[in-house]
Amino acid sequence: MANKFVLVINSGSSSLKFAVIDTISGEAVLSGLGECFGLEDSRMSWKYQGEKKEVAITDEGNHHQAAISMLVDLVNELGLTENIVSVGHRVVHGGETFTKSVLITEQTIKDIEAVQDLAPLHNPANLLGIRAALEAFPSLPQVAVFDTAFHQTMPAKAFTGGIAHELYEKYAIRRYGFHGTSHFYVSREAAKMLDKPIDKASFISVHLGNGASVCVIKDGQSVDTSMGFTPLAGLMMGTRSGDLDPGVIEFLLKKGWTQDEVFDTLNKKSGFLGVSGLTSDARGILDAMEEGHEGATLAFEVFTYRVAKFISSYMVCLDSLDGIIFTGGIGENSLPIRSKILGYLKLLGYKEDKAANEAARFGASGIITEDGGPIAMVIPTNEELVIAQDAVSLI
Ligand code: ADP
Repeated sequence: MANKFVLVINSGSSSLKFAVIDTISGEAVLSGLGECFGLEDSRMSWKYQGEKKEVAITDEGNHHQAAISMLVDLVNELGLTENIVSVGHRVVHGGETFTKSVLITEQTIKDIEAVQDLAPLHNPANLLGIRAALEAFPSLPQVAVFDTAFHQTMPAKAFTGGIAHELYEKYAIRRYGFHGTSHFYVSREAAKMLDKPIDKASFISVHLGNGASVCVIKDGQSVDTSMGFTPLAGLMMGTRSGDLDPGVIEFLLKKGWTQDEVFDTLNKKSGFLGVSGLTSDARGILDAMEEGHEGATLAFEVFTYRVAKFISSYMVCLDSLDGIIFTGGIGENSLPIRSKILGYLKLLGYKEDKAANEAARFGASGIITEDGGPIAMVIPTNEELVIAQDAVSLI
């Protein structure tokens, strides 16, 4: 039987990530990125059989559409088209409407539009990708996979803010949570690694990338998570502040800052970048810290302390805990960051196994705590694979 491939599309406001995933092996046969949409140096790059290529997007019209039609030509040229059975789209916000992945129909598109207010930067960009792909692949079934869907099992005490309840009723203001696909995937992989059925397994999943969030998973279901109404909440991130006293916003507005300046700062100039005054990239922070850079050292301290505080506060959600899972670019690779976080959890019994922590990097998974004690582990995430698997199971 021929291999079944799924074309996975993650369409952002100025970029489009794509991958062709082999649903049997889980490998990306082709992966690539269209970026700088709307700018002069808009381009598309991809990797196929170990070789990288890049071309400019010369079309002056809609760059999302141009990128998708280049993608159609590319998969045709590479002879992949016949094996592609479905297209899977990442959609950031599903509101309370979407609790799982769905086949895309006219109604689905209307429902995604209806929750657009909740993610005004992301959902319209996701829809651009969906519309362009529907036009380009009219005969293929297409599926939407939501970042928020996994967290729809959270109880009201976890998703309700301490504000007037009518704001929830009127505007749907509540905690939604994001990174659901990643927390879902790594918790399933962790249960496999520990040889436990997922519906009897509980984890605290710590996704640390440019965006970062912690999720508590009880009996396989999300019961709380650190991101909130928007992906700005919770942990400190590459450029996002994470949780902050809302009084700071009022203070800055009264100082004459505009609303756009305040939120641009909180979203794009805070986190590692803002605290260090240097870079949003964790590797840059760690390198600078080694050279004694004070801002980088402070950024490392604030970041790791806050992650550890979130982990320990989530103990209240659980009767038992099978493991803390580290994932995302930082969680999968950074020895000093994992080490520092585990150090804060010593009262809970966590003891880093230094050799194991060193080994579980660059794509390797593994348990990184000493035998006999509570478990922390590293599991590389694979959101594209979840999207591909959902796309196949729904057709
Ligand atoms: P995104 O959230 O954009 O998907 P990633 O999950 O790829 O991001 O994570 C990007 C982050 O991972 C960056 O801060 C990068 O510095 C960090 N990272 C990647 N490799 C390493 C490493 N070896 N050590 C420390 N941090 C790393």
